[in-house]
Amino acid sequence: MMYKKTKENILIVRLDPGEDIYQSILKLSEQENIALATVQGIGAVNDITLGLFDPVTKEYTKKDWKNENFEIVSLLGNITTLDNKPYLHLHMSVADKDGHVYGGHLNKAIISATGEIIVTILDGRVDRYFDEKIGLNLFNI
Ligand code: ZN
Repeated sequence: MMYKKTKENILIVRLDPGEDIYQSILKLSEQENIALATVQGIGAVNDITLGLFDPVTKEYTKKDWKNENFEIVSLLGNITTLDNKPYLHLHMSVADKDGHVYGGHLNKAIISATGEIIVTILDGRVDRYFDEKIGLNLFNI
């Protein structure tokens, strides 16, 4: 991972083959002590796990795609805090060679060629709390 920070507090991030998007951006959030930010990105991946939250069972179902090339059509998310640590929430849609698009809650995404991620740090902070009724870590606002 290589990155630079602009004077507007925006991080321009390049991820290289073999790097995991989620783990890399979480590490970056810890290094830069980010409390609130938006995340966007594009690139190429070949090993991904995406999830779907079931509001009845309150669990995520996960699906893996291994050794398959995808273009990232859209990587979107946010960085907030939970228990005073950066908390990353990302969603991603990807396209295969036929143009079929899959998407979901991002658990894992390994870069195959490059990842071009932009993290826009915002003023202030938003903490999360675990909501028992919904079963998720919600914005505490
Ligand atoms: Zn999600």
